[in-house]
Amino acid sequence: MRRPARAAVALVAVLALSGHPAAQTKIKADSNKYTPAQDVQIGQEAAAEIRKELPLLNDQRLDDWVERIGQRLVSAIPAEFAHNEFRYTFEVVNQKEINAFALPGGPMFLNRGMIEAASTEAEVAGVMAHEISHVALRHGTAQATKGEKFQIGAVLGQIAGAVVGGTAGSIIATTSQLGLGTYFLKFGRAAESQADILGAQMLARAGYDPRQMANMFKTIEAEGGGGRQPEFMSSHPNPGNRFNAINKEADSLKVQGNADSGQFAAIKSRLAGMSAALTAEQIAANKKGQAPAGTSTPAGRTSVRVEPPSGRERTYQPGKFLRVTVPSNWQPQEGRDGVTYAPEGGFVRDNSGRTATTHGLQIGVAQGGTGNLQRDTEAILQGFARSNPNLRSVGSRREALGGRTGLTTVLSNVSDVSGQPETVAVSTAQLKDGNILFVVGVSPREEAQVYEAAFKRVRQVLQIAD
Ligand SMILES: [Zn+2]
Repeated sequence: MRRPARAAVALVAVLALSGHPAAQTKIKADSNKYTPAQDVQIGQEAAAEIRKELPLLNDQRLDDWVERIGQRLVSAIPAEFAHNEFRYTFEVVNQKEINAFALPGGPMFLNRGMIEAASTEAEVAGVMAHEISHVALRHGTAQATKGEKFQIGAVLGQIAGAVVGGTAGSIIATTSQLGLGTYFLKFGRAAESQADILGAQMLARAGYDPRQMANMFKTIEAEGGGGRQPEFMSSHPNPGNRFNAINKEADSLKVQGNADSGQFAAIKSRLAGMSAALTAEQIAANKKGQAPAGTSTPAGRTSVRVEPPSGRERTYQPGKFLRVTVPSNWQPQEGRDGVTYAPEGGFVRDNSGRTATTHGLQIGVAQGGTGNLQRDTEAILQGFARSNPNLRSVGSRREALGGRTGLTTVLSNVSDVSGQPETVAVSTAQLKDGNILFVVGVSPREEAQVYEAAFKRVRQVLQIAD
């Protein structure tokens, strides 16, 4: 299932001023339950993890150049979105794939491949302006605010695992973390529109042509090819007509001065003189051995043969009140918010070096239920949908879960990892304390029949003693 988030976010946040055809678009930040200080904390914790996981380029010349662009853009953030607590930092990752991301509160990571793919400094600035806009508009925590009342208390400190712990792309991660990677690194279309528009405005104010941001997005989209979209596009989905929307906004903007450092050619040739950037696979292979058990798949394999569910069973007691019986060839993988049971090879690595679960089942508890199973289930499913734009409900039915009233919703999805259709079954039941127990089964569609039988058996024999 796809890694952190795209999809439907239903907030109308970009409002065109009517009557002033040439006026720049007015942006309004979404409501946010988090404090800016919490944004900073979340971002710092995640950034610390990322620095451990990803190879930074650590080239002073590159860093200085990126820093200069970044600071110019930061000073172009409109006053209403400038948060004193935030500290914008810019680090170059020695990675080949085109990507860039920014964390709440300001830490930004730019892949070397992004710079290499750009044809002008302004294109690089365009991506950075877009990322800074997400941070300034606090999209990560705003998404968490409206997404999941369920996870408010659990967000802090968890994002790091969701981002780099190896499961960031999977619905499983979305489930167990209730969408942390989702909330902080993947954005819905409304947020994307906002970041495009605000980014364009900041570029113009900083002295860069905003149209170059549109050009860069085109380059990135074209890079995908082969049916697999670049990680950047999966985290920053095209809100629709992106290229034209940015150019239209640019029509209302006046580029103030010229921020171009004139160093781009030198930067490019400096990069060309270095040994090649590492691929995600190489990065993953380099850290093999320190990966959490069960998440290290041989590098380079994007799919592996997975043994079907064994007819034999094993029972586990993942929490005080649960007894879970699963096929004996499924191993438990404990996460912070739940346990995943998957066969060997059910974890696969995607083209960003992250792993996801393609075959397996996860059990966890979502906190903060309203007492209405249907409504709580819908909220959980909406969280998934945000992370998985291809997720479609196929149907929902009442089905006992561990002997109590439950709901099972079957969904179709397209695996980000394999690009193949997959089937997802989300089952929920209420616990005595009002929290929601959820069981999520994921399997490739062509194996869904076999797996659904196994998942169903798990749901039936599950014992809940809360
Ligand atoms: Zn974006």
